[in-house]
Amino acid sequence: MGLYKSVDKRQSVNHVKRDDEVIVISGDNKGKRGKVIAVSPKEGKVLVSGVNVVSKHVKPKKQGDPGGIIKTEGAIYACKVMPYCSKCGKGARVKSEINNKDKRVRVCATCGEEL
Ligand SMILES: [Zn+2]
Repeated sequence: MGLYKSVDKRQSVNHVKRDDEVIVISGDNKGKRGKVIAVSPKEGKVLVSGVNVVSKHVKPKKQGDPGGIIKTEGAIYACKVMPYCSKCGKGARVKSEINNKDKRVRVCATCGEEL
């Protein structure tokens, strides 16, 4: 059971959300940055613009249609990305704070910059 539990934890997507600027911290795309296009909490994956771009072969749909190869982003595990802090210039550990407008915001744990 312990094993399954850790898998569940890995798959949770709560540190990044759509439109976040993120940086990839491990894997083939390490160091790449992009904007989160979509989040799939069920799979624990995210789509990040310009990251993990894969070529897909498209079959011609009708006769005379050339088909071909299109480039599209492939989903990567959310655990491989971190919110990007432009002030620190790297992936940031995020903490939650209440700002002066009583609104819950996420800030960089290192420099305090609002993300
Ligand atoms: Zn920072």
